Amino acid sequence: MPCRGLTQRVVVLLYHSVNPTSVYSSASPEEFRQHLEWLQRPCRIVPLDEIPARVPGHDPGPTVAITFDDGHLDNYIYAFPILRELKIPATFFLTAGYMNQDPDVRSRLAMLNGGPVRPMEWGQVREMQTAGMSFGAHTYSHPNLATLPRGAAYEEVRRSREILEDELGVSVGTFAYPFGRAGWHYTQETVEAVAEAGFDLATSVGWQPVRWSDCPYTIPRYWVIHDDVQGLEDRLRGVLDFAALQERLPLSLARRFYPGEFPP
Ligand SMILES: [Zn+2]
Repeated sequence: MPCRGLTQRVVVLLYHSVNPTSVYSSASPEEFRQHLEWLQRPCRIVPLDEIPARVPGHDPGPTVAITFDDGHLDNYIYAFPILRELKIPATFFLTAGYMNQDPDVRSRLAMLNGGPVRPMEWGQVREMQTAGMSFGAHTYSHPNLATLPRGAAYEEVRRSREILEDELGVSVGTFAYPFGRAGWHYTQETVEAVAEAGFDLATSVGWQPVRWSDCPYTIPRYWVIHDDVQGLEDRLRGVLDFAALQERLPLSLARRFYPGEFPP
């Protein structure tokens, strides 16, 4: 059923934690289920790697892909059963050092999230993989890649791909930039490092749909934070497309207005 008033926009959604209690959750399990049940009606929900081929014009209504960043245990406990029940594909970007229980990386994720964190186990990830979920890399230690020297940025990217491929036994072609804002958290040099490390698709964060002009290494995603169904519909309709404004903000002002986007 085509969605009345909705366009052929192609939108990628970004969740982090799906959790009834965590201070950093993107959605409670109930909200997450409501999102998916609503999206299923007007939208075609596709795996992320199909997105570049589905830019506006391909499908009669809106097209959506679902993604998760970081690799929190609650993705397995709360989000995965709902995705499996509703037969919806999703891609999970895993911070490799967090998944490997590196104490420094886990402390960093706890600092960034403002509360205790726990990663999924590799066995759980493989169970999700068998059920049709996809996995991409999200660096080893979740740094701001734009602030690292080129060699160090490349190593973060390459190492995460290697760890995921060893654990999952498949080629890993998708990557997500930590924090994800163009210019603030990744640069042209970062994009080159990601391509050089062998990835063929990378996702960012930006309040805009995927357009013809987007390069496959800068696929924008809307960050979901406890949106109700109306908020989700606003994203699909483009009521909240602020990415162009944000990208033009000088870095000095961005640091002042959005201090949370520039962690140590
Ligand atoms: Zn992240």
